[in-house]
Amino acid sequence: MHSILQWSLNTFFFFYGLAFFMMGIIILAQPKKGSSFKLADILWLLACFGLIQGINEWLSMWVIIEDRSRTADLVKLCCLVTSFIFLFEFGRRLLIESFLENISKRQKEIARYFGWGIYLVGGVIIICGSISEYSDFWREGNTWARYLLGFPGALLTGVGLFSYYLREQSLLKEAKAKNYFLWSASSFIAYGILSGLVVPKGDFFPSNWLNHDSFLSAMHTPVQAVRAVLAIIITVTVTGMIRIFEWETKKKLELKIERITTLNNELETFAYSASHDLKEPLRAIAGFVGLLEKRYKDSLDEKAHEYIKYTIDGTKRMQELISDLLEYSKVGTKRKEFQPTDCSLILSKAILDLKAAIEESCAIVTYDNMPTIMADASQLTSLFQNLVGNAIKYRSKETPRIHISAERRGNEDVFLVQDNGIGIDPKFKDRIFVAFQRLHTRDEYPGTGIGLAICKKIVESHGGRIWVESEPEKGSTFYFTIPLNASSIAAST
Ligand code: ADP
Repeated sequence: MHSILQWSLNTFFFFYGLAFFMMGIIILAQPKKGSSFKLADILWLLACFGLIQGINEWLSMWVIIEDRSRTADLVKLCCLVTSFIFLFEFGRRLLIESFLENISKRQKEIARYFGWGIYLVGGVIIICGSISEYSDFWREGNTWARYLLGFPGALLTGVGLFSYYLREQSLLKEAKAKNYFLWSASSFIAYGILSGLVVPKGDFFPSNWLNHDSFLSAMHTPVQAVRAVLAIIITVTVTGMIRIFEWETKKKLELKIERITTLNNELETFAYSASHDLKEPLRAIAGFVGLLEKRYKDSLDEKAHEYIKYTIDGTKRMQELISDLLEYSKVGTKRKEFQPTDCSLILSKAILDLKAAIEESCAIVTYDNMPTIMADASQLTSLFQNLVGNAIKYRSKETPRIHISAERRGNEDVFLVQDNGIGIDPKFKDRIFVAFQRLHTRDEYPGTGIGLAICKKIVESHGGRIWVESEPEKGSTFYFTIPLNASSIAAST
């Protein structure tokens, strides 16, 4: 019977220690930096309590197996005192510094002195105990540590968690962590009463009165079993409780995305209407300057004609830029629902639109069998038009040869537009996709520098990527991907 009891006691201590040790590790592993939950700043105290208390319980198991020794007693006492200092400090800060924020400065001071007072009294008692010849210092030091630090520490923690719950109720509810707080708060209180007041045996009041021999012989094992269960409950609930940080990070990210999306939409709408509205006055300027030239042709000198020419050129360029900007902002604001789109059909349409440029440059445009994908057909046409148009525009001295192909890689289709043109220095491979970034002057090649930015926006709005592989004089290959589930991606953005 005795050995069964002993064996079960060992098991309880083992799981008890394991539970708290795990709790310490889980708390420390959970990223909490930058959290707006005040709990985040002091949780390390609870983690230290868990780790040290875990070791302490394993030592208790060891002592039962191997019998008491002075060294084991000393280490155990140190572990116990330190772990309870952490628990006490955690509970005290939880309750006072974070959750009774509105108490006066003086009350906070009193609370602080109270904390230090407890540490001081504990220290004095333990030291006095150690120089007293009549007492079993190890056992009584142990008992006093539990009475002075463990019991109030667990109580403060429990009450602190309750008040935390009351304060942050709505947030905790949203994070689905409400019950974890309630459970761990109650478990901490029960744990404090059991391990602080019920178990320790000492030669002084209330230890000798509360835990007399007959009570302990009957209750010791059951109380230890309940403590072990409580430790497991605390670990499970604390683990659940700290999910608030994960939830918070997710929530912050969602909010950020929402804000960026709203901002982006506003910007796109603004760019669209601004460029739309700008067209009108620009047309008026171009028209009136033209009229000016026509009507006063004979009375204007050469310089005036030159200035008028510059003005007309400027307005034309501005019109081009505005049209491109309008085109660019349309990609975001005027997106249609994705439909099954036959890329061969789209490509032949794009090539037809580029007929004049193809004939003029004698370009040879070929393409393989193209897949049918989920896409916005008009955006896809303008994507091919831009890429093939560029391949013609940036041709070398050789006859332009452009080949378009596609292949399925995993859950996406990869499209390739290859040319034998002037090529691009790899150091500009990202810059060319930025709006209004050009590598040439307008005299060398006409353009506004927005074509590839439009391509990028179209591809990204389909959930894909676009990039280029090229070297100067060696032609370029533009790649873009369209995921097979493009329609669901688009719906979620
Ligand atoms: P634009 O053609 O109006 O300048 P784009 O955004 O279409 O604007 O292209 C940006 C830059 O990328 C171009 O100025 C050009 O230097 C480079 N580029 C684009 N396509 C090619 C290509 N097929 N071969 C070589 N350079 C290219």
